[in-house]
Amino acid sequence: MNRGQQETSLLSPQDIAQAAQILRTGGLLAIPTETVYGLGADGLNPSAVARIFTAKGRPQDNPLILHIPTADWLTRYCVAIPQTAYQLAKIFWPGPLTLILRRNALVPDVVTAGLDTVGMRCPDHPVTRSIIRAAGVPVAAPSANTSGRPSPTTAAHVLEDLGGRIEGIVDGGPCTVGVESTILDLTAAPPRLLRPGGVTLEALQAVLGEVAVDPAVLRQMEAGERPRAPGMKYRHYAPRAPVTVVQAPPADAARYIQNHLEEGDGVLCFAEFIGLFQGCPAVSLGPASDPAEQARRIFDTLRTFDHQPVSRIWAMCPAADGLGLAVSNRLNKAAGFHILTLEGET
Ligand code: AMP
Ligand code: MG
Repeated sequence: MNRGQQETSLLSPQDIAQAAQILRTGGLLAIPTETVYGLGADGLNPSAVARIFTAKGRPQDNPLILHIPTADWLTRYCVAIPQTAYQLAKIFWPGPLTLILRRNALVPDVVTAGLDTVGMRCPDHPVTRSIIRAAGVPVAAPSANTSGRPSPTTAAHVLEDLGGRIEGIVDGGPCTVGVESTILDLTAAPPRLLRPGGVTLEALQAVLGEVAVDPAVLRQMEAGERPRAPGMKYRHYAPRAPVTVVQAPPADAARYIQNHLEEGDGVLCFAEFIGLFQGCPAVSLGPASDPAEQARRIFDTLRTFDHQPVSRIWAMCPAADGLGLAVSNRLNKAAGFHILTLEGET
């Protein structure tokens, strides 16, 4: 098969057999999940997995997550699985939770970037679970975007980034969660949140009691610091124009942005404030009180600014609790942690 510039097939949810065949023959297949679209390959085939890194331009030291159709596949690829893994799987799988566990020798080094642990997830999308079952292999899949760009939440986003570089895209409609999975390291004691996502920290604490939060969730890593999820050290989710996050109660943040807006600036704001920014490129992140809607919209709104000429982007941001922790983490990373925290005067 020619692995250079190629035709990318658009597959429908009915094309399970064709999709599974692409995976079984070492091809790259974009798959829908509830979080974001994934760029999948046979997770047991090192040369297929290596192609993921090339297609995305992904740094080699950033490991991939293995996707499985049911929790009973865990024993195929993991060892020393704690009881808490099954307890969490029972509550949150299929769903947006990735568990870091010790891996066995079947898992190739290219998947884990040489780590002795592996990220495991059972996605909540019936089409993708059927494809994985039909392929009969775990599917290694990072997000199906060009490395560094906002993650893809529609098949069109995937086509925009990876069209001509991969064998197929399965169009399963827009993603219902919209931000990537929560990553929880179960090899640490207490369990450690490495990335906030669709399952909230509060929901994990309700099951596990104490959960540590990796510093990379809340701030930029300094030179020489190594986050436990290697991917958290990279600039991420970024549109082409620089982003400034304004952290303050919504009305204060909106007023500050209004006062500092210059010709050519774009604004990412809560729905209630869009009327303040008529005449400049402004996009709604959804209602201030609805972080689930903000999560669904965040990556698409960041991408819209790449299709209109803006020189800077101002962004409003939810409070960092519940699903707001994942939304604010993605916005802060898109801004390279360029955050203005307002106190008092605006
Ligand atoms: P993506 O699929 O693009 O969301 O990237 C996967 C994320 O999972 C990256 O941030 C990785 O660093 C993280 N990850 C994958 N495997 C591991 C692992 N074994 N230990 C820690 N983090 C991991
Ligand atoms: Mg990604």
